[in-house]
Amino acid sequence: MHNRVVAFAPGRVEILGNHTDYNEGVVLSAAIDCGVTASVHRLRQRQIEVSSQTNQRTASAHLDELSPSATEPWANYCFGVIRELMAVRWPVLGLGIEIASDLPVGAGLSSSAALEVATAFAAIDLANWSLPPMKIAQLCQKAENEFVGVKCGLLDQASSIFGEDNRAILLDFRSIAAQTYQLPDGVSLLLLNSGIPHALTGGEYNERREQCQAAAAALQVTALRDTTTTQVLNSDLDPLVKRRALHITGENERVFAGREALLAGDVDAFGELMFASHESSRHNFENSTPNLDALVEIAKSTNGVIGSRLTGGGFGGSTVSLIRSEVAQKIIDSMQKKYLRATGAQCSAILTRPSQGARILRRD
Ligand code: ADP
Ligand code: MG
Repeated sequence: MHNRVVAFAPGRVEILGNHTDYNEGVVLSAAIDCGVTASVHRLRQRQIEVSSQTNQRTASAHLDELSPSATEPWANYCFGVIRELMAVRWPVLGLGIEIASDLPVGAGLSSSAALEVATAFAAIDLANWSLPPMKIAQLCQKAENEFVGVKCGLLDQASSIFGEDNRAILLDFRSIAAQTYQLPDGVSLLLLNSGIPHALTGGEYNERREQCQAAAAALQVTALRDTTTTQVLNSDLDPLVKRRALHITGENERVFAGREALLAGDVDAFGELMFASHESSRHNFENSTPNLDALVEIAKSTNGVIGSRLTGGGFGGSTVSLIRSEVAQKIIDSMQKKYLRATGAQCSAILTRPSQGARILRRD
């Protein structure tokens, strides 16, 4: 058995398919090239000791008394994962866990899932144990849902695990399966932060979930996954609920069309789907903001941008754009300048590409 194992788990970006996860739909996402590193070693005591270089904090808990910490809430992501591992009969070890990260925290790139997945990969490997990758994703999601108390879908954890270099991940939240598709050469992903923090803490997220559920109930289907844009258009749903449902059916249909575009190597068709996705967020789901709209409008008029849309929950946060790599710096400079002129606000940029998912970096 090794003394120390170092695991890495990346952040993720949603490329197409917005708010589809809790509607049992589909999404195209990618793991990105920055993330969280967890270095773990065994402790003699039945104790978990976590430290993070990022926030310079430490926390510890007894393995037999794992309960959420009110004073060190960041450590709950690790404690929660360990508790879930114990529930599936992971050979329990006292563990020291050291966390480092080059992922911005709270920027919508899912540092929380990266933290969970890195912890899980390292802890499982150190014990010479294994679990199917999707099981690890679900276990990490459960830790965040139940131990941390954040209602997130499976997108974040599964993307961090199933990422591959230069490939997009198609996640199906009904069959709980992941498949990857090659992106053409010479394209990158550009994330621009609108500078307005995404405020999913407001009632909007829950309200949208309820409206989707109401639409599915009125249409007498299990979930909006089971209906189509045509059926929704022809239904007599209340106009507001109808628009919400149209966003979900449209997004599912765009994800499948996006897969066809990738298989055909038609990057321009893929870009158009991204613009259409944003338009649907703006009009149907109303989870955009004037600043996100400004970023997408600017993207449309910038040479080398293939497609652009808001990414993640919305109500603030970032846009993701598919761009031509050779003019990346020009695009960033130009878009930042135009955004400042249009809104008076700055937008920070992260240039990335679809990257390999969680993995073991070292065993000593
Ligand atoms: P996101 O997942 O979009 O980055 P979240 O609010 O879901 O935002 O997760 C951020 C939280 O995850 C932080 O507030 C912190 O508690 C925890 N976290 C993430 N990365 C680290 C890290 N490197 N060190 C300590 N805590 C971290
Ligand atoms: Mg998160």
